[in-house]
Amino acid sequence: MANIGYIQVVRHCNHFCGFCSNPTTPYVHTFDSMKVLVDDFVQRGYFGIILTGGEPSLHPELPRICRYATDRGLHVRMITNGSRMSEPAFAQEMAEAGLKLVHVSVYSVRPEIEARLRGTPDTLPAAFSAVENAHRFGIDVNANSVINKLNADHLDENIRYWVKHHPYVRHFVWNNLDPSMGRAEVNQAQFTPRLADFELSLHRALRLLEKSGRSFRVEKVPLCYMADFAWASTETRKIVKGEERIVHFLDQKQTVRQTEWGHIYAPACDACSVRTICGGLFDRGNAYDPGELYPLFVSRDAIVEKIIHDPHDPSYRYRTLAEWHADFDQRLEETKALAAQRERPSSAVPPPEMRDESIPVGTVTDRGLRLFEAKRRAEAKKAASLGVSMEKTELALPADQEPAGGK
Ligand code: SF4
Repeated sequence: MANIGYIQVVRHCNHFCGFCSNPTTPYVHTFDSMKVLVDDFVQRGYFGIILTGGEPSLHPELPRICRYATDRGLHVRMITNGSRMSEPAFAQEMAEAGLKLVHVSVYSVRPEIEARLRGTPDTLPAAFSAVENAHRFGIDVNANSVINKLNADHLDENIRYWVKHHPYVRHFVWNNLDPSMGRAEVNQAQFTPRLADFELSLHRALRLLEKSGRSFRVEKVPLCYMADFAWASTETRKIVKGEERIVHFLDQKQTVRQTEWGHIYAPACDACSVRTICGGLFDRGNAYDPGELYPLFVSRDAIVEKIIHDPHDPSYRYRTLAEWHADFDQRLEETKALAAQRERPSSAVPPPEMRDESIPVGTVTDRGLRLFEAKRRAEAKKAASLGVSMEKTELALPADQEPAGGK
């Protein structure tokens, strides 16, 4: 896949997932502040953008920014919990605004597990109505899911449900839980799975999808836990092809440009044949155990060939293994030289070389702050009733964005 940028259009949400890594902040976007980000992606030659959040469909200007980005030639996607898309009129409006693809997020098809994970009852019917509405109005649908402790044992059951009830959904994306940010960071014990918890069910799910001719990607899972499907690892594909990812966070992180995909490795990784194309263990908070990693002894080049010859994703500029070796070895040397110059911080704050402060991402207004505080109070009550902890707030604002006046 060619480069696709992320814009967080809002950070509030009408669900309350205990492991949300991007919870409410006081930052807000206007149409104009989003337009600047779209223009920047166009200038960088990006293929498309993903509108995300929070729950992006809660932004009143979403159809307008979607239309604008489409008119500027970007392929526009949205990640959503489906609550608004379950209204046919909204789905139609987004289709007419040019939305090409919607990733509808469902964690578990077991209603009681989904309710627990979403902190909100009865969300499944709306999510599946959203899927149907999007399909009806010509928007492609992908299924998204976060792997966590409560769904780890039935990822394959979820796939069987999708295949049976929504056979037109052809692409599936899993994200292993990111335990380093937001509520995920403070509720690690409740929601972070062990890698071994999902190994079998993920393998079964991927086998089912492969057999039925569907495609898939898996993010933040080390290759030793998806060995037969290593080519489907998002990090591995980006490492192999040398791709970047820009995320415009609607919080104090602002713009993060990620060009390196490796995270934590264990001593076992030194012996592993795929070490140079593996993202390792995604963890900045000691939530996962590096002791669970084990070396693979498989052909790295076979994985690379599968990626660079993928007919559905011809974005990589070279087509032969020899050309890839030359390109990759050079990139590897550059990465090593860069790594030698710095010490990677262990906190969730991205290192300076990943930050881009040239464009402000959203603003903090007095109104935004008031809404944020009201939302936090409501969420604190919800958190208490669900037995989850509230995320830490970091209200360090850029100097030029100190809110005027009181609350
Ligand atoms: S042992 Fe390390 S390098 Fe090898 S697949 Fe596992 S995490 Fe990746």
